Amino acid sequence: MLRSLHINNLVKKLIPRHRYYSSLKSENGAANVYDCIIIGGGHAGTEACSASARMNAHTLLITHKLDTIGEMSCNPSFGGIGKGHLMREVDALDGLCARCCDVSGVQYKVLNRRRGPAVWGPRAQIDRLLYKKAVQKELFNMKNLEIRCAAVEDLLIEPHVDGSAQICKGVVLKSGEIVYGRTVILTTGTFLRANINIGLEVRPAGRIGDGPAIGLGQSLESIGFRMGRLKTGTPPRISKNTIAFERLARHLGDKPPVPFSFMNDRVWIEADKQLPCYLTHTTLRVNEIVKQNLHVNRHVTEEVTGPRYCPSIESKVLRFGEKEHQIWLEPEGLESELIYPQGLSCTLPYEKQVELVHSIQGLEQAVVVQPGYGVEYDFIDPRELFPTLETKRVGHLFFAGQINGTTGYEEAAAQGIIAGANAASKAKHKIEIKDTPQLTISRTEGYIGVLIDDLTTLGTNEPYRMFTSRAEFRLSLRPDNADMRLTEKGYKFGMVSAERYSRFKATEQKLKQAIEQLKSLQNHSNYWRRKLGLREAKASVEKTAFDMLGIPADNIMLNHLIELRPEELGWLRNEPGICERLKIEALYAYFVEEQQRDVADVRRDEGLVIPANIDYFAKTLSLSNEERQKLSLIQPQTIAAASRIQGVTPATIVRLLKYVKRQQQGAAQLMGA
Ligand code: FAD
Repeated sequence: MLRSLHINNLVKKLIPRHRYYSSLKSENGAANVYDCIIIGGGHAGTEACSASARMNAHTLLITHKLDTIGEMSCNPSFGGIGKGHLMREVDALDGLCARCCDVSGVQYKVLNRRRGPAVWGPRAQIDRLLYKKAVQKELFNMKNLEIRCAAVEDLLIEPHVDGSAQICKGVVLKSGEIVYGRTVILTTGTFLRANINIGLEVRPAGRIGDGPAIGLGQSLESIGFRMGRLKTGTPPRISKNTIAFERLARHLGDKPPVPFSFMNDRVWIEADKQLPCYLTHTTLRVNEIVKQNLHVNRHVTEEVTGPRYCPSIESKVLRFGEKEHQIWLEPEGLESELIYPQGLSCTLPYEKQVELVHSIQGLEQAVVVQPGYGVEYDFIDPRELFPTLETKRVGHLFFAGQINGTTGYEEAAAQGIIAGANAASKAKHKIEIKDTPQLTISRTEGYIGVLIDDLTTLGTNEPYRMFTSRAEFRLSLRPDNADMRLTEKGYKFGMVSAERYSRFKATEQKLKQAIEQLKSLQNHSNYWRRKLGLREAKASVEKTAFDMLGIPADNIMLNHLIELRPEELGWLRNEPGICERLKIEALYAYFVEEQQRDVADVRRDEGLVIPANIDYFAKTLSLSNEERQKLSLIQPQTIAAASRIQGVTPATIVRLLKYVKRQQQGAAQLMGA
């Protein structure tokens, strides 16, 4: 066996890839051909194979280990601001992650509650073990899905029949076996030619306990894909029993906990049984340890870009100097003895990590069970992809997840579901891309659209994560209405179950009926104000009950209106979920229109020239440090060019446009004077 493998490798070097594997194919004769092969059982891969199987495509998931399917490689949490939006959208398309989080969370909390519902971030601490068991249970019992444990070493690529392009026809396993597929999706995360770093020690590995994918990385490079290198890291894990929690601030979950999935009215855990998180801070001693040990910290000194928004403690110390930093102590699970110190990702040598941990309040006696480490890995320039996530270079080959330069479980899941649906559609239709139904989501429809549009048009040179500020339509792309935006589309595409669809239609019908009723109830605003016990206004204008519900300052709730008009609205007494959604709809109705006007203004004036002497530090522009840095460096000539800079938000572009126009008007007035 070893000998034949060796000969295979030798032959492979001598014969061009497609001819070599074609010859193997004819030797093998007719083989089982899958509609869709997914490589990698992480967050992109699990959503991709589930979407493909839901679309009745004959699907195969190939991954290194069965036990790591659905593994949370780093933080024991899902969701958050922007990320929670992505999860709700994945759920609206009948994906797995939200449902699995509803049966594995140990603390649920909606972040950003002090701000408007458009930017609320559903988030939960997750029991790692329960989460992956929930994912595995779904996948192991899924119709149309087979799962194999193997390492993929190469891709089977042949020229198209008319010789015009290359087509991916399957994969080659480490054993030399070929598996044929009409479409192939790569979701190999941080594994491509990956090294992990601790201190000065470097080891080839995709994450601790898992080998790297070296052959596949070389293969992609030899095909000609533009590739880059990124890095990320994870904190040390600490023994729970050795932490002085009594000296730290305790933070509890929401009561009642809010589920992620539109399919659930409640989560599995009782509100009072949720686990707490604790907050502590680094000390100035931590800063000293970091600075004194840079010479033994290879990961930090490597010229590879790490995550800007989830930085290591070393990069925070180097960037922000003598500051103390927040560290959240998060449970890893109900039965777990481990605590995850969020914010303490580091790559110092083990003994220095222990010293650093002991310099933090409450952790003076803590036992470090597993050291933190960093990973460096290859990623593909996502501009190599169409919005369907199929590659432009090789037909029938799709990429999704961290391989495309993103970071985070939710970003991976969002890409996985789109790649899975499109690959299944392509395989089932067996015709060219122009005729195949495609699932693409626009920037106006969802955060998934923003994510994929940003990646495929702008690319990225640092790990990309989602923020609400990246979406120009964020007032209408809310977590509460993801089902209204996407479920119908997903159902028509064939990826949403009949059960979910009928639940969605019932909700949609109730919302529609209630909005119509509220809009039909019309009177003078002072009539409403009198009846609702509010102070009357000087001017009284015609308002509907829906308008009244949407006035932020008055905080009128639906039950007030129900009491006033029980004959029309009484049925809503038994519909608390619908009432909550109606309130949010009404609150945003006016602002959504305003937002659309702003977006139209930017589109109209995209060609406006930005003066060369613009002061990006001007207070009225209120730019973030990242935006100042990038705009000053790139010096875009027009508003359109500025809007294409990764990290400059749509809201900033609106402000920049108004600022430049104001300056122009000021200059024109001076000239006229
Ligand atoms: P993964 O979840 O990595 O899954 C890849 C899968 O592919 C694995 O199952 C692997 O076994 C399989 N695979 C790879 N190559 C092959 C092959 N050749 N053949 C067969 N199977 C293969 N995200 C954050 O948001 N914040 C963080 O702080 C953070 N820190 C991280 C720290 C570390 C050390 C790591 C490893 C990741 C971190 N992440 C972080 C990233 C987060 O884990 C990923 O974004 C997410 O898991 C990506 O999902 P994915 O599906 O693309 O890949």
